[in-house]
Amino acid sequence: MLPVLDPSSIIESDYQEFLALLKKSTFSGDIEFSYASRLAVATDNSIYQQLPQAVVLPKSTEDLSLIGKTASQFENVRFSARGGGTGTNGQSLTSGIIVDMSRYMNNVLEVNAEEGWARVQAGVVKDQLNDALRPLGFFFAPDLSTSNRATVGGMINTDASGQGSLVYGKTSDHVLGLTSVLADGTILNTAPITLEEAKEQSKQHSSLGKITQQLLDSCLGKREQILEKFPRLNRFLTGYDLENTLNKDLTKLDISRVITGSEGSLVFVSEAKVNITPIATFKALVNVKYDSFESALRHAPSMVAANATSVETVDSNVLNLAKQDIIWHSVADLITDVEGKEVLGLNMVEYNSNDQADIEQKIASLSKSLDDAESLGVIGYQITYDKADITKIYAMRKKSVGLLGKIKGSKKPLAFVEDTAVPPENLADFIMEFRALLDSHNLKYGMFGHVDAGVLHVRPALDMCDPEQEAMVPDISDQVVALVAKYGGLMWGEHGKGYRSEYAPTFFGEELYTELRKIKTVFDPLNKMNPGKICTPLESNDSLVKVSGLKRGEFDRQIPIAVRTSFEPAMSCNGNGLCFNYDTTSPMCPSFKITGDRRHSPKGRAGMVREWLRLLSKNNIDVNELEHNEDPPTWFERFRNSTDKKPDNDFSLEVLEVMEGCLACKACSSQCPVSVDVPGFRSRFLSMYYQRYMRPAKDILVGNIEKMAPLMAQAPGFVNFFLSQDWVNTSIRKTIGYVNTPLLSKPTLEKRLKLNQPQSTQFDLGHLQQLDKETLSKKVCIVQDPFTTFYDADVVESLVKLISKLGYQPILLPFMPNGKPQHVKGFLKEFASTAKTAADFLNQLAELEVPLVGVDPSMVLCYRDEYQKVLGDARGDFKVQLVHEWLTQIKLPESKTPSQAAYGLFGHCSEKTALPTSEKQWQQIFKQTGLELSLVSVGCCGMAGTFGHESSHLEESTGIYNLSWQQAVAKFKPEQVLATGYSCRSQVARFEAFKPKHPLQILEKNL
Ligand SMILES: Cc1cc2nc3c(=O)[nH]c(=O)nc-3n(C[C@H](O)[C@H](O)[C@H](O)COP(=O)(O)OP(=O)(O)OC[C@H]3O[C@@H](n4cnc5c(N)ncnc54)[C@H](O)[C@@H]3O)c2cc1C
Ligand code: SF4
Ligand code: SF4
Repeated sequence: MLPVLDPSSIIESDYQEFLALLKKSTFSGDIEFSYASRLAVATDNSIYQQLPQAVVLPKSTEDLSLIGKTASQFENVRFSARGGGTGTNGQSLTSGIIVDMSRYMNNVLEVNAEEGWARVQAGVVKDQLNDALRPLGFFFAPDLSTSNRATVGGMINTDASGQGSLVYGKTSDHVLGLTSVLADGTILNTAPITLEEAKEQSKQHSSLGKITQQLLDSCLGKREQILEKFPRLNRFLTGYDLENTLNKDLTKLDISRVITGSEGSLVFVSEAKVNITPIATFKALVNVKYDSFESALRHAPSMVAANATSVETVDSNVLNLAKQDIIWHSVADLITDVEGKEVLGLNMVEYNSNDQADIEQKIASLSKSLDDAESLGVIGYQITYDKADITKIYAMRKKSVGLLGKIKGSKKPLAFVEDTAVPPENLADFIMEFRALLDSHNLKYGMFGHVDAGVLHVRPALDMCDPEQEAMVPDISDQVVALVAKYGGLMWGEHGKGYRSEYAPTFFGEELYTELRKIKTVFDPLNKMNPGKICTPLESNDSLVKVSGLKRGEFDRQIPIAVRTSFEPAMSCNGNGLCFNYDTTSPMCPSFKITGDRRHSPKGRAGMVREWLRLLSKNNIDVNELEHNEDPPTWFERFRNSTDKKPDNDFSLEVLEVMEGCLACKACSSQCPVSVDVPGFRSRFLSMYYQRYMRPAKDILVGNIEKMAPLMAQAPGFVNFFLSQDWVNTSIRKTIGYVNTPLLSKPTLEKRLKLNQPQSTQFDLGHLQQLDKETLSKKVCIVQDPFTTFYDADVVESLVKLISKLGYQPILLPFMPNGKPQHVKGFLKEFASTAKTAADFLNQLAELEVPLVGVDPSMVLCYRDEYQKVLGDARGDFKVQLVHEWLTQIKLPESKTPSQAAYGLFGHCSEKTALPTSEKQWQQIFKQTGLELSLVSVGCCGMAGTFGHESSHLEESTGIYNLSWQQAVAKFKPEQVLATGYSCRSQVARFEAFKPKHPLQILEKNL
């Protein structure tokens, strides 16, 4: 039986006292110290893992100040600020307290377009800021691949930059002023001041005075050494930015500049005033294709010289991975293959201008040079002027880092030497030598980067569960440090230092490094702010974090290999954070979007399961045996475990909480770059969890819905009357935890068809098996699902009519449970048996080669994915198509009544993530028949099967609907709103005064 899994992780006493005091104070944010909450922020995108003592989530500058003031009473209480947690080198990891700015401090406070600035809280996500600026014609210029989840606070503290940095600079170039909080709670407002003002300010006996004096001493006093030491690179040396804290003519001092790039080791940044840049009117992107990566690298400088706004490059490894990902569908036409040649390198060359003639002239001149560049390895190029297309190509490029993680096997590409910067003219030679270095260790890797700025992204693949390979990390790091030094570059051209801080003395040199320590001393004398990162205060004996620090592999390797392999999706999460996507119209991940709680994300859930598996192994539990337990505990034992003996130290309870919050929408299964399929391991967890504890009534209800629905449909009038009574609904809510229980279709599907389409109900397998191919080719079988058949019968009825109108003979197959609800709730044994029965039946039909068509996307997709996983080869090769998949193969007639206005298609999130072309196919189908269909960009509707009907999730379900659906639905007339998912139609019906139609119903009516 699943044992009680006690993580035995006690919070240190100082921290306990601190948290208790903070709780008693006027602190208005959240304080979390459950093991799960701590675990959710114990990793980032790096190879490191460090469990903090607690997580505090402030709501204001005053909250931050309270944290500092309260902590002043405890010398040992230390912090690390955290934004999106996308650091690649453990920047935000700490054994102290995580101060998470992202949940509440995420408001754009003010935008002044006339003066060209915006004021934001530190937890605002970069794309969120740009969404607020776009209508005003502006954007926040420094870019980074993680723009949909990294926060402005994180960007400031790593001095982030990326594509276009030659023109747009780094984050530090855009910070006009900061509101920060020191470790003792003092609030600091900083903006550039004249040198005279600075000298005056330095006389104050305050923290600000001391800081100003030290910066004058270090930055002015050591000016010569600073200029001599640092390479003149676009990606200059930060952390701390000694050079640019003073302006070039030494007339101004800007304290914000030293905070920028300080990785939270000086202050908590609370608010920032940043400048904003007008969006260029015209853009063009040229995708130049090469016969080798080296050709792409060597050719790039000439394009930079020809005034390109930016030049980005990717190698063939990255390109090939992108081609296999869902994202390729959006760019396939923009980066086509070259006939008879292999594209082994790609440069993406961007031009921006407010003058159309200027941009056309630049493109004409580039095209001319590319036409003559065959000898330089150019094998083709494509130009696009469309801003939406350009955005799609960059989205593909931004996803590339994550895609590297998709490599099969235990060796995974890792971020530890991934952002070197060298003078761009040295880049090609540097990369050739870098490749030789990695090849000498027999390592695999993919490469891409900002060639214009000399920045290279490379992630060597290592298996961190293997101690020998783990030991290679410091070795390779040392060698890369030496290599970048040889080429006059930097180890950290983009992503900051984090655990690489041990190399800081090497890059700064002893004299200037001492200045850093002096600066740290005036800001944070007790080393409370992100200790170990960048430097320690002068008098401190604390050490820096090291590349050889505690790694995630140390924990992962405690899980037996067989279990790791079996739970590969949870193991392979690399923390790149794409699942924290801020965009409300993106399907990933609704539960994180609505809670703002990192536990409730694919990354959070993958981390919980890994730790759960580790604790099981520590308790000598064989997961395989547990999962296939032939002798599970009795009902009485489970009852006892769930009542008087239910412990509060069982980690399984915390894991259950995060799994319960998952909608099982499966967006992560296809949108996560490494396909972390949460519903898959969630159902396995539930099946093991409920060996120990009692199942709630709602799970039993859902698990049996496919048995109950046909029975209830025998007397729909009676059931509906019963379900329409307030007292019944109240008691269902109170006892089972179910709300808005849907009413059955009346008349039932069976009755409707017997009346209108009697032929379609006469299924006889034996008879079908007798028919010849010609006769069979006119038949189409409809695979029923419990939701559409019993609760949305008019949709199935329309499908029957539509098939007839198209000249085919519809056959309604007998209802056969699909098992999806059992899978969602973790009744895995029952699911396997249901799936086997259904698969056997459908395989018999498949032999007849008659199309099998189903209506509901999540049910149909279950036949493809979960059936394959549970049955393996026994699944057979039957194929159930969705309606649009069948229709695309059929010649369609013109509509009788062409569209008066465009219909809007609200796609089902599981469908559009698993079948990315589905919406476009519906659009094509409508177009062929003369009807107009626009594709509406929305995220999850919040219903997801039965999730939205569970009273415990009602608030979240409503919130998710309001994130994107509510506004989008309001833009259409009710009769124009079309939705492919049963869940989506029910969710709209619940909140609006109408139920949308399925697109097939419009076709049927109009043909
Ligand atoms: C797939 C991938 C691609 C990436 N591509 C790029 C890229 O193109 N360019 C680039 O520059 N970086 C890139 N990064 C690195 C990372 O996204 C950036 O460093 C980003 O700026 C971190 O922002 P965050 O909000 O996630 O910060 P976090 O990771 O949460 O924190 C980063 C650092 O900032 C500190 N910090 C955060 N908020 C505050 C605050 N309010 N006050 C004080 N300190 C704070 C933390 O303590 C930590 O030291 C990439 C990372 C990944 C995973
Ligand atoms: S679940 Fe996927 S998207 Fe999320 S952090 Fe892990 S690997 Fe990245
Ligand atoms: S299935 Fe949906 S809700 Fe669950 S983790 Fe994946 S994206 Fe989030």
